[in-house]
Amino acid sequence: MKTNPVKPVGARVARARFGVAPKSLCSDSLFSWPFGVSPGGSQTGARWLGETAHRARGTPAVPAFTLIELLVVIAIIAILASVLLPALNKAKQQPHKAKCLNNLHQIGIGMKLYVNETSDTFPPGDSWQLDPRANPDYWHGNALGGTDPSPVFIARMNYPAATNRFLNRYVQAREAFRCPADRGFGQILRPSVFDNLGCSYRFNWILEGDYYQNSGVAEDPAYNLGLKKESWPPEPSRFIMMQEMGLYPWNLGTTIHITQWHGASNPGRVFDASTLKEDHDRLLSGVLFVDGHSQQCDFTAIIKKNALRALEPGKDWMWYKPLKR
Ligand SMILES: [Zn+2]
Repeated sequence: MKTNPVKPVGARVARARFGVAPKSLCSDSLFSWPFGVSPGGSQTGARWLGETAHRARGTPAVPAFTLIELLVVIAIIAILASVLLPALNKAKQQPHKAKCLNNLHQIGIGMKLYVNETSDTFPPGDSWQLDPRANPDYWHGNALGGTDPSPVFIARMNYPAATNRFLNRYVQAREAFRCPADRGFGQILRPSVFDNLGCSYRFNWILEGDYYQNSGVAEDPAYNLGLKKESWPPEPSRFIMMQEMGLYPWNLGTTIHITQWHGASNPGRVFDASTLKEDHDRLLSGVLFVDGHSQQCDFTAIIKKNALRALEPGKDWMWYKPLKR
């Protein structure tokens, strides 16, 4: 027999939406369905019929579940979510961490090949370190490899094209210079630092803030590893050679600015030194050391303690060679 299921269902939905259901449905639905609205469908209808018959025998009907039970279930789901989501998030971050460390490992091999061909000398921090009259003064230390900068950054800042980057002959996979967790830096460097500068990692050259302005701390705060011999850093296994651009404590005017990528709940958001302490995320960065090993370091404690002194040595790392007095 040919039936037309559209009309009855449509009519029922329309009535339910406006809260006017047929009398027989309305009484049952309000009694047995905790949300007060009939869901429709034959299976649910059969359940209503069963309950109606049950009541007809004089036994009190038992609702499917009470409001208390519903709240308990919601509370259990919320507790499980709060326990499992960080673990899931961490599991999701693991491939990022592994890829990032593999990138840095490749860059470390490329750097070793470069240094072997340049009389054991690291690349320069900028063009002026090679020639003070150079124009433009390319900031090589912020882009030792990777791909071309975006047209906006070619015009606004001194970033060299990919073909003029010191490590590109030695690390030909340009994506090796993209941190997989790179989500940019503030509103301008979106969607990633790599998409703007062509490189997510920064060579450990010019030091920031106090370390640059107040001489007497570091031996060479202007260029640090730039153009130094391989033997210059005092502890190669602890001396930072490259790290992520985002986590470097940039001194923008009067305060330190920083962002997080790995495992951050809001990656790319910029904090200044005064608001950083309110953030609950950890401050993690992949780091390549002078001896060629790479590891992810947790800078949370040292940066939150005093962002202006964030380049002080940690357990596993050091940023600069102390000036001998
Ligand atoms: Zn990374």
